[in-house]
Amino acid sequence: MRFDILSVLPELLESPFNHSILKRAQQKGLLEVHVHGLREYATGKHRQVDDYAFGGGAGMVMKVEPIAAGIEDLQKQRSYDEVIYTSPDGVRLDQALCNQLSLRQNILLLCGHYKGVDERIREKYVTLEVSIGDYVLSGGELAAAVLVDAVGRLIPGVLNDETSALFDSFQDDLLAPPVYTRPAEWRGLKVPDILLSGNDKWIDAWRLEQSLERTRIRRPDLYEKYLKGHV
Ligand code: SAH
Repeated sequence: MRFDILSVLPELLESPFNHSILKRAQQKGLLEVHVHGLREYATGKHRQVDDYAFGGGAGMVMKVEPIAAGIEDLQKQRSYDEVIYTSPDGVRLDQALCNQLSLRQNILLLCGHYKGVDERIREKYVTLEVSIGDYVLSGGELAAAVLVDAVGRLIPGVLNDETSALFDSFQDDLLAPPVYTRPAEWRGLKVPDILLSGNDKWIDAWRLEQSLERTRIRRPDLYEKYLKGHV
């Protein structure tokens, strides 16, 4: 799977994909991430990528031409399954959407800045608008990094233990159960006996029970959804 990211601040994305799981995914040839500087597509002495908003008001707007040139240049080289704009008014990113996106081959991600991009870019090129939550970031790069991380780890073969993503929070509309590692006792706090029992059936049953309880208490909305799917 390949991500191309168009950004006015490509430096912001230098590190997030070069460690741990995402780094290994790239080394294994399962994931490619290419960051493209938007300013390279801007013309004129100052390579300007933003301008005043028509109608006035505070804040600059990202200009049409450099973004259009960037998207069209990338589209000449391959066809994209989605052109995603990161935006607070987009659909909320969740595990179900990550699962869907992990089945795509090529995704182009556009990061906004300032007041966002000229609306005509959204009308003409963007196929999906994604928000990572109800808060406003100063730029789309961190949102793009979140999306690439959450989607990239779902590509088959990326996680060492292939089944482990299945037991993460949200995969089955449930939160993950508590986890422990050695030592079995620390300052008088003991790991639940059942996890030391060696009995996989009991352990699975305990984990499911803990997941259900945690979800019921912390996320009643998810718990409702889970119950509806398990009648
Ligand atoms: N004026 C806009 C916010 C602009 S923030 C509004 O109120 O909707 C600047 C850029 O940061 C946006 O263009 C978008 O690309 C990115 N961004 C900000 N918050 C985001 C969020 N919650 N999810 C995804 N991208 C976000």
